[in-house]
Amino acid sequence: MAARSVETTGPAETESLGAELAGILDDGDVVLVRGELGSGKTTLVRGAARALGVSDPVTSPTFSIGHRYTAPGVTVSHLDLYRLAGLEREDPALLADYLGPGRIAFVEWPQDAHEELAGARIRVTLSHGGGDRRRIDVDGIDVDELPRASDGGASR
Ligand code: ADP
Ligand code: MG
Repeated sequence: MAARSVETTGPAETESLGAELAGILDDGDVVLVRGELGSGKTTLVRGAARALGVSDPVTSPTFSIGHRYTAPGVTVSHLDLYRLAGLEREDPALLADYLGPGRIAFVEWPQDAHEELAGARIRVTLSHGGGDRRRIDVDGIDVDELPRASDGGASR
């Protein structure tokens, strides 16, 4: 996928972009969603999840690191790792439940330390543009740029 940059002028447009993004995703894909608080990360994921067939309301995970939504043919995972940021150690199994075959995962606040996310295929970066404007950059990730999940894991 070619890098793409758009500006949206309201939440509905950001949801539409999420829906468009959903159209190019495959089983097992991980999408990293970055941007400041209120930049529209959850809004974009909501639009994508809807397009993938999720009918339950898509809300920010608060009591857990993520939600899993059942859609026809796939489970849609929505993770928010904000509160994991300060932890030096984490249980890799924590993320594993949300990733892998049969799932498409959207991850807000991904951290470099999350090696499980090294296989992410797409990165979305949102930023405030004043008022209801948001700039949204979507780009494919060259997996070679990131540490592989299989490297160095055993020594940690
Ligand atoms: P995040 O997950 O990044 O913290 P949310 O999606 O939860 O952000 O919230 C974004 C807020 O900004 C919502 O209240 C939404 O209605 C509002 N908003 C205003 N304009 C936009 C836009 N262009 N795109 C997305 N959200 C917008
Ligand atoms: Mg959010």
